[in-house]
Amino acid sequence: MSNTDSRWKEKYSRLLDDYERLEQNTRERTGLLERGLVRSSLAAEGQDPKLDRQLQALRDSVRASNSTQLQQVVHDIEHHLLATENQRQERQHTLLSALDQLCSQLLANNKERGTRQALKKLQGALKDRQQVNHTLHDWLHELSRLQATVLQHPEDSGNSGMLDRLFGRHAKTADTTPPETATANTPVPMPVDATPAAITDAGATAPSMAAAAMPDMGVLYQALIRLLDELPLPDEDKEAASALRARLVASTGWNSLESTLEQLTELVIRASSKRQQEFSHYLQQLNSKLNLITSSVSQTRDSYQSSVDSAASLDQHLHSQVNELHQDVQQITDLEQLKQRVDQRLNLFMETLAQHQQQRKESEQKLLQRLQDLGERVHLVENEASQLTSQLVEQHEKARRDALTGLPNRTAWDERLQIEHLRLQRQTSPLLLAVIDVDHFKRINDTYGHLAGDKVLKILATRLQQGIRKTDFMARYGGEEFVILLPDTPLDNGAELLNKLRQHIADCPFHFKGEPVQITFSAGITRLQADEDPASAFARADQALYAAKQGGRNQVRSAAADGPCAAPAPVLPDQE
Ligand code: GH3
Ligand code: MG
Ligand code: MG
Repeated sequence: MSNTDSRWKEKYSRLLDDYERLEQNTRERTGLLERGLVRSSLAAEGQDPKLDRQLQALRDSVRASNSTQLQQVVHDIEHHLLATENQRQERQHTLLSALDQLCSQLLANNKERGTRQALKKLQGALKDRQQVNHTLHDWLHELSRLQATVLQHPEDSGNSGMLDRLFGRHAKTADTTPPETATANTPVPMPVDATPAAITDAGATAPSMAAAAMPDMGVLYQALIRLLDELPLPDEDKEAASALRARLVASTGWNSLESTLEQLTELVIRASSKRQQEFSHYLQQLNSKLNLITSSVSQTRDSYQSSVDSAASLDQHLHSQVNELHQDVQQITDLEQLKQRVDQRLNLFMETLAQHQQQRKESEQKLLQRLQDLGERVHLVENEASQLTSQLVEQHEKARRDALTGLPNRTAWDERLQIEHLRLQRQTSPLLLAVIDVDHFKRINDTYGHLAGDKVLKILATRLQQGIRKTDFMARYGGEEFVILLPDTPLDNGAELLNKLRQHIADCPFHFKGEPVQITFSAGITRLQADEDPASAFARADQALYAAKQGGRNQVRSAAADGPCAAPAPVLPDQE
């Protein structure tokens, strides 16, 4: 073989090596890209079942390297995002119908002319759906005002049963005497439950009704506090929420209901629309990034395919030129003529190769650039996906914590109770459930203010938490109520532990305005049976708590699973 031949052969095999490297490189990049897509789609999951299915299809088509299907899926995701907008409109429709219904209910319960006219006018305005975005707030405001008027002047309705139906007052008597009053032995003189503030708040128009409704108003305000605590609020609304919370805690009567409800409604609307906006913004961004990546992937595939095609055509070209050279060598007998022909052929050969090399260089550079861009994009999407994942984990955590005490909240309690109940069905060791309620907590608020009350709750939560095992689980059930699960503990031991905690809390005075004040709690405890509904065990512990309150407070009662409350667990002399 001549020198020239072996040079060409060497060059040709180098070229082939380059192609193989390029192919390997492209495969790795495409793999990386596909991983990025799969991870980002996983991060966006869990918000909407339909979108989840589409994201699953996206992953499937990425895994099957099916670009046609991939394009279709991306198109579907885009379509779905548009449809979300339609759903928003549907929700708006439902909201307007509900408001319309509320107007009708208020109309049915009111005879006063002015209020009726205003309600009818509002009902008419609600029909103008075009206005909803601009005037929804005004409508809510007006409705809230009218509702307050109807509630405050039930005598105009000719049917005061509406209040009874709303708050179940008919079951109560009009007796405002509190269940217990402070005695001379009470460490700090506490006002009785019917505080001057409560009486003023009840309003002059219907004092007897407001007074009769007071205990139920407390339940209503507590429910509103809980609703507010569970709201996933953006940071900028936190201040407004804590001011509203303070007002709810201090509220007792009807007068403040209108404005607090109005503020709460606003916060609820803001919380839900903010989350929706954030998520739909993220989806839009993800969608456009996925589109970019998909088109880059197909461009990269195309240019890789065209380099493979052009390598094949070069191969063919070179083969035919070598064949022609062979024929020339066999046919031409004149040495001079042969030399000339070989020269010509070699020049052509070199020209073809030079041209091809130039083309290759250019397409390689383009390909490299594209791969770099792709790599950067994939990296970006991967980073965003991992950020989103940690945000989701954080939000999930937050949604299960009580903001005031930092303890698990009721949602977390429900989940844990279910898990422990399932575990109980697999093993025999006893599981206890305890309910704790601070005694006369309302007096703390009334005497020292709700901020002092909040502080008591925080300190109590910490002290109680410190007194239980790591394997026990304590949550804030609501207001001044805490619940504890004690796995692997016999009933007597659990009651003894609670009693120690009770004693410990009663023994460390809390200081308000420089004075020591004793805080006590009452508790009920029971054993959860594997074959019963956890709700009935809860009701049993709650009954035991009720018995502890009835028995004078500052004590622990245990309830056996098969009977009424047992004799009190070790109890200290009543401190009341
Ligand atoms: P009892 O001994 O019968 O349990 O009397 P109590 O006063 O503790 O019970 P009641 O249910 O009458 O009052 C509970 C009070 O707890 C009323 C409510 O305003 C207050 N409260 C509920 N949640 C909070 C809170 O987060 N912070 C503060 N400061 N007070 C709260
Ligand atoms: Mg309570
Ligand atoms: Mg209480």
